Amino acid sequence: MSESGLDHSGLDHEVVIVGAGFGGMGAAIEFTRLGIEDFAILEREDDLGGTWHVNHYPGLAVDIASVTYSYSFEPNPYWSRLFAPGAELKRYAEHIADKYDLRRRMEFGVVVRRAEWDDDGEFWTVHTDDGRSRTARYLATATGFLSQPHTPDFDGIDTFEGDIIHTTDWRDGYDFGGRRAAVIGTGATAVQLIPEIARVARSLTVFQRTPIWVVPKIDFPIPKPVQQVFAKVPLTQKAARLVNTSLLEALMVLGVLHYKQAKPGNQVATLMAKAHMRLQVRDKATRQALTPHYDFGCKRPTFSNTYFRTFNQHNVALETGTIDHVVRDGIVTADGTKIDVDTLVLATGFNLWDVNFPAFQIIGRDGRDLGQWWREGRFQAYEGITVPKFPNFLTLNSPYSYSGLSYFTTIEGQMKHIGRLFGEMRRRGTARFEVTEAANRKFLDRATKNLESSVFYAGDCASSRSYYFNQHGEATLLRPNSTLATLHEQANFPLDDYAYA
Ligand code: NAP
Repeated sequence: MSESGLDHSGLDHEVVIVGAGFGGMGAAIEFTRLGIEDFAILEREDDLGGTWHVNHYPGLAVDIASVTYSYSFEPNPYWSRLFAPGAELKRYAEHIADKYDLRRRMEFGVVVRRAEWDDDGEFWTVHTDDGRSRTARYLATATGFLSQPHTPDFDGIDTFEGDIIHTTDWRDGYDFGGRRAAVIGTGATAVQLIPEIARVARSLTVFQRTPIWVVPKIDFPIPKPVQQVFAKVPLTQKAARLVNTSLLEALMVLGVLHYKQAKPGNQVATLMAKAHMRLQVRDKATRQALTPHYDFGCKRPTFSNTYFRTFNQHNVALETGTIDHVVRDGIVTADGTKIDVDTLVLATGFNLWDVNFPAFQIIGRDGRDLGQWWREGRFQAYEGITVPKFPNFLTLNSPYSYSGLSYFTTIEGQMKHIGRLFGEMRRRGTARFEVTEAANRKFLDRATKNLESSVFYAGDCASSRSYYFNQHGEATLLRPNSTLATLHEQANFPLDDYAYA
């Protein structure tokens, strides 16, 4: 028995965690709290921080205020702005890794290809690209939702002679000066990046397929004296977090989850976004082209004070024609128009449902292949973290796991779940858990029912092309509960929802 009290016989590790972002680090902190010290964190990238390591394009910042977008148990009083720039999040991730002594457990540049459960030996074998494999009693995947970049296969893209840059593979210091740039995509990433490119490029053409709802961003530097107060009297920052989180919660619960019952709440957000655009975009036709024809919340909305006004600039054009193909020096739309391009920026987002759920092959009991099972059946995970026939497996980026608007709510709920589950195993003196089919089915039925009231089903999302929906047309990303209800459930789920052995 290891010091945690759990059986640990001859395996490489007690736990393998895949992913060194905030999810993986949250799980690691929870395991440490439980006294489980023997874990390895395998990370595909060359450093920690997940999204905040991979993304470093100009204009990157959080779009959930930083008092909320951080671990509640590890507040950072020194955020420079209400919405901190991306680099501060990366530094915050480094601080977490150091403070909780996680770095020495991290292995970078390690790409996991496959994991399989051995039901006789009761352990996982995790295979990596370098030809190695590691065994562990428990496997926890924290591979992110937005971590498999989507690069559309435009006809002729291979013939393009200029530079092609995906936003997840940014070339720091890239000079757009004098260049004819094109950005494909108008998601949250593009909304942050477009004003930055427009400031320096000779010309910028924005290729928009689906417009996005954008509301004003109330952002400002946090003065040093306020940071000092946050540092000296942590209760003040807690109060700020409470106020901000409550506002976001109201937006999420009333505007998105209870759309059916509280439609006016949703319409207020729509009006706000329209008024924002009216004030910022001079040309009527451009305003019309930028206006979505789906309900607010169907697709992830975003915040910006600079995106809309960029379209007033003489060097910026909005292109809504379908991209037909790419040529050596430009893009040709379906009506035959050619737009000359020197630098092509792909702000084309991520592939969630085909390649990211899960991020690598995971084979459970009786040969069940998780990805195949999800895709051929329904995407599901009990409390957004465990799956029947996958003993000793925690999947942090699961269907129905994303709770509230700040990812940290999701992580902290899952940490509570892990704490309760492992606490019960310790009480019983067992080392194996598996969620029951019945508990999983009940959770799935409840989520399905709750979603009926949401904007996804009760609203008009037909033209949204939202990644909240999977390939079966089901909105299986967000957990349809308030964050308070989620946190309560994660800390109080019925213990016999699991079989222990
Ligand atoms: P995204 O929201 O998925 O947007 C991708 C964009 O590329 C969409 O406008 C999409 O158009 C377009 N696109 C994709 N394939 C295309 C094709 N073949 N032809 C034309 N257009 C195509 O990705 P993202 O902007 O990277 O944002 C992803 C998520 O990351 C956000 O929703 C947000 O949750 C998060 N994010 C957060 C922050 C922050 O907190 N600071 C910043 C950036 C991103 P369609 O809509 O028509 O598919």
